[in-house]
Amino acid sequence: MSDQFPSSVAQLAAGLRDGEYSSVELTKAYLTRISEHDDALNSFITVCDESALAQARAADAAIAAGAANNLCGVPYANKDIFCTSDVRTSCGSKMLDNFIAPYDAGVVERLNAAGMVMLGKTNMDEFAMGSSNETSFYGRTCNPWDLSRVPGGSSGGSAAAVAASLAPIATGTDTGGSIRQPAAFCGISGLKPTYGRVSRYGMIAFASSLDQGGPMGRTAEDLALLMNVIAGFDERDSTSLEMPDEDFGRLLNKPIENARIGVPSEYFGPDLDAEIGALLERAIAEFEKLGATICEVSLPNSQLAIPAYYVIALAECSSNLSRYDGIRFGHQCENAVDLTDLYERSRAEGFGEEVKRRILVGTYALSSGYYDAYYRKAQQIRRLIKQDFVNAFDDVDFLIGPTTPDVAFTAGCHSSDPVTMYLSDIYTTAVNLAGLPALSIPAGQVSGLPVGLQLIGNYFSEAAMLGLADRYQKNSSWHLSHPSEICAGGPS
Ligand code: GLN
Repeated sequence: MSDQFPSSVAQLAAGLRDGEYSSVELTKAYLTRISEHDDALNSFITVCDESALAQARAADAAIAAGAANNLCGVPYANKDIFCTSDVRTSCGSKMLDNFIAPYDAGVVERLNAAGMVMLGKTNMDEFAMGSSNETSFYGRTCNPWDLSRVPGGSSGGSAAAVAASLAPIATGTDTGGSIRQPAAFCGISGLKPTYGRVSRYGMIAFASSLDQGGPMGRTAEDLALLMNVIAGFDERDSTSLEMPDEDFGRLLNKPIENARIGVPSEYFGPDLDAEIGALLERAIAEFEKLGATICEVSLPNSQLAIPAYYVIALAECSSNLSRYDGIRFGHQCENAVDLTDLYERSRAEGFGEEVKRRILVGTYALSSGYYDAYYRKAQQIRRLIKQDFVNAFDDVDFLIGPTTPDVAFTAGCHSSDPVTMYLSDIYTTAVNLAGLPALSIPAGQVSGLPVGLQLIGNYFSEAAMLGLADRYQKNSSWHLSHPSEICAGGPS
């Protein structure tokens, strides 16, 4: 970022409140930056120049009237999975290319109520199905650290936009790693909250028992600030947690002396790149120096997370996506001869290859005769995976390990082999199966590419986890590194 504007949301909000710059000035600076750099990155599907400036003017008026919330006037990028009543919501799919939702998602209502300024809707894997952003109907997003590489997925547009300073913070969703994995690949911080913390109302469904929205930003402190806006009970989401509001930043800037951190031995096996392993050992030693107690733990069913996830998520997606029938939502084929033809061709034309693959596999796993062999078995394994975490949290407060087995891979290299692609979720999916909170923060670089460190906490431990991450970031500088060729300058 430039001298004129700081890069953290905490500092941006303070500058707005102190009148150092207006929200209109800030918003214009980010919009300019998007127009200069997003042709190269493709991190946005829709940029909202006019509505963003209108929101910024309203925010400036609220700030002047002394009626502003903490993040009033701060710009953000919104993953194109959250329904917005005035802006198209595509979910990265041709199926919803022209879809304008009749209402705002619960998360969007909260962002609007806070007076935040939506710069645009970010690129993503189609219906959030992917680990690379390559399944988007709108073309792949490039990783700002190396344009030939993927930014991760499915919230890759949000991650790339934040990493390249096209937005100071963004929303994402995480069904099996889609906040943490792109955060790791792009060198930013991302939090997947406890299942049920953030409303799924108006968040387009992929796998409902796993989907969870969350913040993506530069620092743990910024994640806490956005969590304070987007988290909270929503009676329109049947799995929303009815808990009192809390300040997710209350444990920032606190010592971590009493933290007991477990290192799962299964996360440091042969699947992990050796250089990443060595970097993480160094980061773990750093936590120890800061006062945490480190010990080894075991999550014996870790290897079963990928197969269980890819049965359960696909089964749920086959059901969730049945609503796209060419009648009520989205793309409709032309000149249908009868109802079956309408269904078949609308879906054949509207969905991309990966989405079709998943609907087919999911339907198969749920079909009579195979339900017991696959779906029921996967649910039983899910229970075992959850129990592994429950057992580990008897002895420790947090778990630490890699977010991904490798750094960002080259675009196209896994396209013909979906199973290899699925294996890049090896350290993230178990958390979703158990419904736990977890975050990824930058902890080093291998060959100039960012490496993510994952912290996993017990249910509802977001504030403590953010406190731990904040302590690490106050004593390290990886979260401050920028990809140089894209970020030279920053808004000015
Ligand atoms: N990469 C995983 C998948 O393709 C996770 C996606 C997600 O979290 N939305 O299913």
